[in-house]
Amino acid sequence: MNSLWLSENINLKHFETLNDNISCDVCIIGAGIFGITCAYYLSKAGLKVIVIDKSGISRKTTGHTTAKITSQHGLFYTYLIETYGEQYAKDYLFANQEAIDNIKNIIDVEGIKCDFEYQSNFVYTTNKSEVSKIKKEVDCVNAIGFPANFVTKTGLPFNIEGAIQFKNQAQFNPIKYINSLCDSIIANNGNIYTNTTVYDVKNENNSFSTLTTGGTIQSKYVILASHYPFINFPGMYFIKMYQSSSYIIGVDTKKTLFNGMYITASSPTYSFRTAYYNGKKILLLGGSDHKTGTPITYEESYYNLEYYAKQLYPNCEILFRWDTRDCITLDKIPYIGLFSKTIDNLYLGTGFNKWGMTSSNVAANIICDDILQKKNKYAYVFDSTRVNPIKNRTEVKNMLTESINSIAIKKFKDSNISFDNIPNNSGGIIDINNQKVGIYKDTSGNIFAVKPVCTHLGCLLSWNDADKTWDCPCHGSRFDYMGKNLYDPAFKDLEIFNINF
Ligand SMILES: Cc1cc2nc3c(=O)[nH]c(=O)nc-3n(C[C@H](O)[C@H](O)[C@H](O)COP(=O)(O)OP(=O)(O)OC[C@H]3O[C@@H](n4cnc5c(N)ncnc54)[C@H](O)[C@@H]3O)c2cc1C
Repeated sequence: MNSLWLSENINLKHFETLNDNISCDVCIIGAGIFGITCAYYLSKAGLKVIVIDKSGISRKTTGHTTAKITSQHGLFYTYLIETYGEQYAKDYLFANQEAIDNIKNIIDVEGIKCDFEYQSNFVYTTNKSEVSKIKKEVDCVNAIGFPANFVTKTGLPFNIEGAIQFKNQAQFNPIKYINSLCDSIIANNGNIYTNTTVYDVKNENNSFSTLTTGGTIQSKYVILASHYPFINFPGMYFIKMYQSSSYIIGVDTKKTLFNGMYITASSPTYSFRTAYYNGKKILLLGGSDHKTGTPITYEESYYNLEYYAKQLYPNCEILFRWDTRDCITLDKIPYIGLFSKTIDNLYLGTGFNKWGMTSSNVAANIICDDILQKKNKYAYVFDSTRVNPIKNRTEVKNMLTESINSIAIKKFKDSNISFDNIPNNSGGIIDINNQKVGIYKDTSGNIFAVKPVCTHLGCLLSWNDADKTWDCPCHGSRFDYMGKNLYDPAFKDLEIFNINF
């Protein structure tokens, strides 16, 4: 199901598919919030920009986000101070605070109507044993010069033991915001092409050729805003990031709703905010997080949230169900800057760790400043060429072991599922003539067979029974049951088997 933001009552932007060889100053690959924000700033600065997207405008992670705009990224500042020191934590926090101001400034300058509202953001606990952790976070945040409060009362419809409050954070409708940014890009001589897949970027003589399904784009600069980079070398982000999925339901609670935005201090995660649907305030309840590619059922994902919503609001009606995933870095800091130290003018912003509304603005400012030859005082915090994550040996080892298992061992291990065991409206992997075959049987028993091997780096896929998709446990690519690629880093569809059963 579509998200609230992409639902039919919102005017979605449509652009042409590329069908030519063209050139520009900056080629931006990806029309999510990060790519569109870069294009907005650079086109305003007078550069000729082209944005290319393999789907539509913000139809992927950004179109399925919760859209809280906050510098409060969980209980994060205790970790930052203990790991990197106070100045680093302060710069991380104020980079994200400035991002909130920047977004509000864009909204004011462009006169955008996107339901932007200032709200307090809270990280809360209902568990007494976690209160000391929250109080410590309050002390850490105050120590770096930001006013955070410890509170025991919130607008939530249940009692809590304690929460940390950041005032003057915000929420908005991301698609209404991005639609207006697209208008500004076009007005400033930029071009946007959708349904155009980029499959390679070549670098020769200080110029880039971006190879797409509709033609080649020549440019001096390229920004990879494709969420998970689909180019593997020399950046090797595939050993530094994994993806994590979460689910969101939109609920008409039939009750007056609270103020504020909320998230739990620890697992299981529950996230609360309100939003407008047909002029009415509804609840967005998120949670059921898991590493993308872990097999998951409806009961473990949407039903878990629906059950919780019905406990809180017994007469509620579920209006929307959707899910998406984001890139998680091993050291919890986004990667912003050069794709690799060895290639000038090729940039990326990724690993937003489910806080991309502010992080994408921080990223756009850092990269646009570099292109426009301005110094950015926050660039060092997010430096994408840092080596610290690689020092996090346990995490890197875990990621590599999982990938190797998925590529090598599972491929040769016999499947314990037989064709007849797969019920209608479900899927699984079976062995046919020593070959792995991914089977989905629709509600009428029609059969769809794919080669269940990821087209990114060859990992064996898992069946996601909640969304009826094939998901990659290594890097988070996803495909529908007919093999069509839905999510990066893969961009090719799965091989289809025509098998007579
Ligand atoms: C469930 C959930 C809730 C979240 N809630 C919040 C929140 O409340 N607040 C917050 O700050 N953050 C939140 N986030 C995080 C935030 O939504 C993301 O960090 C952000 O949307 C990422 O934006 P992006 O532009 O990097 O990626 P995307 O929006 O995914 O955009 C990337 C684009 O690149 C295109 N693309 C990919 N590969 C290619 C290719 N080969 N060729 C051409 N185009 C390509 C895709 O089609 C896509 O449109 C949440 C994340 C999740 C998973």
